[in-house]
Amino acid sequence: MDKWLVGVDLGGTTTKIAFISYYGEIIHKWEIPTDRSDHGKNITINIAKSIDDKLEELGQSKNKLLGIGMGAPGPVNSHTGAIFEAVNLGWTNYPLKQLLEVETALPAVIENDANVAAIGEMWKGAGNGAKDLVCVTLGTGVGGGVIANGHVVTGISGAAGEIGHITVVTENGYSCNCGKKGCLETVASATGVVRLAGEALLNSEEPSKLRDFGEELTSKDVFDTAAAGDVIAMAVCDKLSFYLGLAIANMANVLNPEIIVIGGGVSKAGDGLLRPVDSYFKQFSFPRVAASTKLAIATMGNDAGVLGAAWLAKNEFGE
Ligand SMILES: [Zn+2]
Repeated sequence: MDKWLVGVDLGGTTTKIAFISYYGEIIHKWEIPTDRSDHGKNITINIAKSIDDKLEELGQSKNKLLGIGMGAPGPVNSHTGAIFEAVNLGWTNYPLKQLLEVETALPAVIENDANVAAIGEMWKGAGNGAKDLVCVTLGTGVGGGVIANGHVVTGISGAAGEIGHITVVTENGYSCNCGKKGCLETVASATGVVRLAGEALLNSEEPSKLRDFGEELTSKDVFDTAAAGDVIAMAVCDKLSFYLGLAIANMANVLNPEIIVIGGGVSKAGDGLLRPVDSYFKQFSFPRVAASTKLAIATMGNDAGVLGAAWLAKNEFGE
């Protein structure tokens, strides 16, 4: 099959687009800004135009394209390809698949972006072909995607796999964007880690290099400072690892996936994150789960979204 797949990773500020071979090689990838004006009504138009421009630039015709897969930032109705809600884009019950197909004249398939990233890792990344896989993305928020028997688990209203909203702090938790309190996202996202650090500094008189960063402190600074032996920074990393290990252990006790892939900006801490999380994970998981479910850091980085989206198109429109 020498046709190309189109993978689109729709984000709140930029949209990543890629032409990808049937076998998962990225042939060409680029980004366009996401135009959120007028409730995002130009988004599908801009994507279609950008695809046409790129085809022309590469001297290819639309016949070269098999179909489009897209990851979108919100819960998706898997029957209609509509977005139930994407707060960032001002969409409610938005017929994304239908509009994308009209604008591009190509068949399209839409899935939630965290699920799509999980598929990308399954196909070409740390998942290495595993058919039972969970992906946790520690970024601005905490996203989750669950693949069971090679299928994305979507749930009755597209909200399955919301690992970021597992409650880990049951009393006096921070308020979460979702309206609840004490969600994993409030302590394990990039801002959550910084918040834990701020709290630790406030509750301690001990000297810590973390104080030098002031308002500029990032989650990366917390991990770097911990790696250098700073006691407070180490305590913050331990706390984060406890919450994350607890949440994914309880999830793994239900699913017993082959692998749990941890991605997103916070995961760049690599082994400094993986080791303590794995230790809590083993403490809180059912022995048979602890012995068979592995943890790994994501390897696809920013490409997981476009690759996963392309896999969906291949799965839906391929032979
Ligand atoms: Zn929440």
